[in-house]
Amino acid sequence: MSERILVAVAWPYADGPLHLGHIAGAYLPADIFARYHRIKGNQVLMVSGSDQHGTPITLKAEQDGVTPGELTAACHRDFLESWRRLGISFDLFTTTGTENHAKVTQDIFLKLLEEGYIYKAIVSQPYCPQCWRYLPDRYIEGTCPFCGSTAARGDQCDDCGKPMNPGEMLEPRCRLCGGTPQFQDSEHFFFKLSDFQKQLGDWVKKQKHWRPNVRNLTKRYLKEGLRDRAITRDIDWGVAVPVKGYEDKRIYVWFEAVIGYLSASKEWAKTQGDGEGWRPFWEEDKAKSYYFIGKDNIPFHTIIWPAMLMGYGGLNLPYDVPANEFLTIEGKKLSTSRNWAVWVPDYLSRYDPDPIRYLLSINMPENGDTDFSWREFLRRNNDELVATYGNLAHRVLTFTYRNFEGGVPQAGELDKPSEAIINSARETLNNMDGLLSKCHFKQAIMAGMGLAHQANRYLDDKSPWKVIKEDRQVAATSLYVALNVICQLKTMLYPFLPFSSQKLHEYLGFAGKIEDYGWDWQDLPVGQKLGEPKPLFTKLDDKLVEEETARLGQVNC
Ligand SMILES: [Zn+2]
Ligand SMILES: [Zn+2]
Repeated sequence: MSERILVAVAWPYADGPLHLGHIAGAYLPADIFARYHRIKGNQVLMVSGSDQHGTPITLKAEQDGVTPGELTAACHRDFLESWRRLGISFDLFTTTGTENHAKVTQDIFLKLLEEGYIYKAIVSQPYCPQCWRYLPDRYIEGTCPFCGSTAARGDQCDDCGKPMNPGEMLEPRCRLCGGTPQFQDSEHFFFKLSDFQKQLGDWVKKQKHWRPNVRNLTKRYLKEGLRDRAITRDIDWGVAVPVKGYEDKRIYVWFEAVIGYLSASKEWAKTQGDGEGWRPFWEEDKAKSYYFIGKDNIPFHTIIWPAMLMGYGGLNLPYDVPANEFLTIEGKKLSTSRNWAVWVPDYLSRYDPDPIRYLLSINMPENGDTDFSWREFLRRNNDELVATYGNLAHRVLTFTYRNFEGGVPQAGELDKPSEAIINSARETLNNMDGLLSKCHFKQAIMAGMGLAHQANRYLDDKSPWKVIKEDRQVAATSLYVALNVICQLKTMLYPFLPFSSQKLHEYLGFAGKIEDYGWDWQDLPVGQKLGEPKPLFTKLDDKLVEEETARLGQVNC
């Protein structure tokens, strides 16, 4: 029975290139999960898009002297290129700038308004008299009323993680000129989040499968009590408010960006020639939706978006929100402004995609922050990908290719160690199946690499390259066994290392896409012609550590 899985992935702000923190936080785990379900034969819809409307974008565009539209279009093109080269396999990666997205957002807005979950109220809005403009949240800095941090932004405090309404902040400053904003009255729409307190509490209690960090943070927010939130503001960049008299206001990005999961699903359905094709993913009871996001986004996906969905009615709530923690770089907090980051386009200009996918999988910040270092990148590439997995595949393939007419040899009777390694491969396949279905990616890839280690030891013990001189059949048997283990490794490591798994698939003599061959155990047909084997991975030079660390923190002029 095939399952239906919606893989909903965080919408990156289209205000600059992607860095490894984005990839480890949301995009890689989402891609692993989508590939795993696809190879299992399940129906997957993986969507996201660039978030074009945040105030970080208008701020950045202003700094760069371009229009927000120009900035976001350029970033969107770069995102698409990064996904393609890194193998992040979206079914659709769109933008919040489409007419479809505006329509879907306005539909939700109007339904919530009709149901009484949206109301109007007068608020005093920060206005900078020197800059002659209303100041969106991110244009204000000041002191957090909750923890006292002096680096709070108008919408959220990064130090204590609490969202706030502008006006709650102490000692506010205009970020453009440093002046003190005045507050002026303006009429706005509010989402009645407080109405969902009980319903959300009951729902969250039942989500026992959520990660502890996600559950705990969500419960903490609920315990503090939910407050209504403004959903419109005085800016001109964003989705229009579908109510007469509000033409000069726009819908807040926090309200609109989460709707992107739904609008992207609808857009995808249209591209498939079936405008209703999104419905099963959102309406069937059995369909499951997974939201892959970074930890800074948890309340939007476990509280706000579910409340919007409850108010709208008829659509599935998130099944799981496997939020990751943060990735630090060489022991320091990642900072884009100080260029303390590893940028994806930059990485891809020098290295293959699978080594970074490997490192970020085996060192994924699933349950706590993890650190990226170039030394570890080098070590994991050379010692694990090249020396363990790559070497296993390469020596078995080349030796078989040369000595058995380029085909899979016939095995004799299997001895105990041969049976043991075959059983171990079966167990690992099962074990990884369970781990991947629960989004335990780190443990899953470690299990796969454990099997590669074991297979190397098996091969060393059997030494078919020596044995072949005395007994060709005994050598053939151990090669047959090793080839079969490799054949399962290509499957189980496919979600993590799609490029090398596809190559291995071809070296093993299979045609077409590996994804079409399924997750289950595959016996290698005796006599199957092998492809001409080449190394799966490239050994990297030690000097990269020094070169790459020197790039960190350099500010480009
Ligand atoms: Zn704070
Ligand atoms: Zn100002």
